[in-house]
Amino acid sequence: MRLDGRTAMVTGASRGIGAAIALRLASDGANVAINYIDEPERDNAAEADQVAEAAREFDVQAVCAEADVTDREAIADVVSYISERLAPIDILVNSAGITRDRTMRKLAPEDWDRVLAVNLTGGFNCARAVVEGMTDRDWGRIISISSVVALMGNFGQANYAASKAGLLGMTKSLAREVARKGVTVNAVAPGFIDTEMTRAIPEDVMAQIVESIPMQATGDPEDVAGAVAFLASDDARYITGHVLSVNGGLYM
Ligand code: NAD
Repeated sequence: MRLDGRTAMVTGASRGIGAAIALRLASDGANVAINYIDEPERDNAAEADQVAEAAREFDVQAVCAEADVTDREAIADVVSYISERLAPIDILVNSAGITRDRTMRKLAPEDWDRVLAVNLTGGFNCARAVVEGMTDRDWGRIISISSVVALMGNFGQANYAASKAGLLGMTKSLAREVARKGVTVNAVAPGFIDTEMTRAIPEDVMAQIVESIPMQATGDPEDVAGAVAFLASDDARYITGHVLSVNGGLYM
């Protein structure tokens, strides 16, 4: 098993890409912490529980860890909890993310602030909470889920594109800071992946998008999870500061 004995935390792992990543890391032998956010409108705790149950099928340990990634104290608490329940975190995957799409003229400042807070500052909060432990132990992986939109821009997504491009700047800078300490820092930039996030896109718009993808199809969460599992493995030990596109050829 490529990740036997490692401990991973995946943020926003109650569904979608985060859940697929947690399950893939578990299937590769890692113990996993399923981070989720407590939201009034849906039972993320139950969904996170189901992901943890499915992870345990691979004979690894799995715990759920509730925290809003924008809440620094809660993230610090969760990192200590995982360290006590499982082991110190070797692999951090920043997957929690949201969209609040509007053209710039109509974009409410609160929607700029919240998207930057979750997608970018959330990634910082988690990386900040784990990086010292990783460098102390001379091994670590920090992998952030960016987006093709960081590379191309997208109509109505100035906030989202800025947050995802910010993650790339953070990734490359942190990669330089910790390269000598056995810690790699990389990003995965998915194209259009079939999850709730993209199911919110109107059907006619989605049809046009698919038409523009050389592979003529959206990707599955498992396609992103495979890229993350590779970057987390020892096979990728000499890869750092990289942005790995998983986009069916949409942007090359
Ligand atoms: P999704 O909406 O299905 O899942 C997002 C997850 O993040 C959910 O579990 C949600 O509860 C969680 N989350 C939201 N805010 C949070 C917070 N403050 N703290 C902790 N968790 C929080 O979306 P998805 O498509 O699975 O997206 C996962 C990641 O992949 C996101 O970062 C997204 O931007 C990125 N991404 C998605 C696509 C795509 O096409 N679906 C493409 C590129 C990048």
